[in-house]
Amino acid sequence: MRRRPVHKCQECGDPREIVSHGLCAKCLMSMRREADRRGEPVFDPCQYAYLQELNSYLNRLVRASSALEDAPVPDIFVTPADLLYVRRVLREAVEKVQAVKATTEQSGVEADVEPGSQEDPVNALTTRSG
Ligand SMILES: [Zn+2]
Repeated sequence: MRRRPVHKCQECGDPREIVSHGLCAKCLMSMRREADRRGEPVFDPCQYAYLQELNSYLNRLVRASSALEDAPVPDIFVTPADLLYVRRVLREAVEKVQAVKATTEQSGVEADVEPGSQEDPVNALTTRSG
């Protein structure tokens, strides 16, 4: 299970689990409802945060995998069979994350979240409300 840090929410100031962009789930959801009332395109901030999290897992797994492929490790430290096994585990993990990501994206979020994306829909939302 994912654990979220408990901090002061930037909106309501209560110590809560911070879902995304320094905001608690309650405040993110109320922002979302406000955007909905104003007829603005609605995104799901929780889902957006989750996609970013998935991307971060993907990045790390892919980095680990390619790091192993970059240069050979002598047999006395890791047998070729073990190396193959580790790479298979990493590849399977990547596939699992990609599958979860695909279903998360299909479940209706419009956010186009790519690694390194500078998109910040929560900020876009709050600046528009002023
Ligand atoms: Zn809050």
